[in-house]
Amino acid sequence: MQKGIKPASLGPDLKAGLEKAMKRKGFKGWDSAAAAAVSFRELVMDVGLKNQSHKCIWCTLLVGERGRRTAHRDHIAPKSLYPQWTFLPENIAISCEFCNGFMVKGDLDTVSKVDALYENSEFLIVHPYLDDIGVHIGFSEDEAKIPAVIFGLSERGKWTISRLKLDSDFMTLQRAREILIDREYSKLREEDQDRVRSALNFGR
Ligand SMILES: [Zn+2]
Repeated sequence: MQKGIKPASLGPDLKAGLEKAMKRKGFKGWDSAAAAAVSFRELVMDVGLKNQSHKCIWCTLLVGERGRRTAHRDHIAPKSLYPQWTFLPENIAISCEFCNGFMVKGDLDTVSKVDALYENSEFLIVHPYLDDIGVHIGFSEDEAKIPAVIFGLSERGKWTISRLKLDSDFMTLQRAREILIDREYSKLREEDQDRVRSALNFGR
């Protein structure tokens, strides 16, 4: 999971526009063609990609053109079960098609206790905006001191790792690769770092 990420914030105009659109008869929810809904969907995608450095909030693999994986607007509490939070930026993060897809997250219920105030609700999942992720998820090192093996430090940490399949062989190998690349990269001279960065375009 990515740490220290913030949700998009809505300007007062968009907020007012959305509230107005939602009150209109026949408002179609998430897929609404109302201008405010379209602007909202664009905003959460644009800000999310930027804030998350074009990486999936859960598995941290690159999304969009850079990663050849589709970027999804992922409702942390699924909108099918919690329609009241459909247009709440705190409930949306960018994820890849695999993490958001039916094999992993899909419509999985991630909430244990609903409160009228979103941030006072209790979640089963480690929440990317509301939780200190380091309290719930840790990494252990092997003999080569590569902290790539993920483990849960709390019940929610364990739940999140198992449901999102963050401990698969593929994900562990992927994390080890990234750590090794980062280490080698930091040893390079500045001009070589520039060359690598533009060749790989890995979002630094
Ligand atoms: Zn992912």
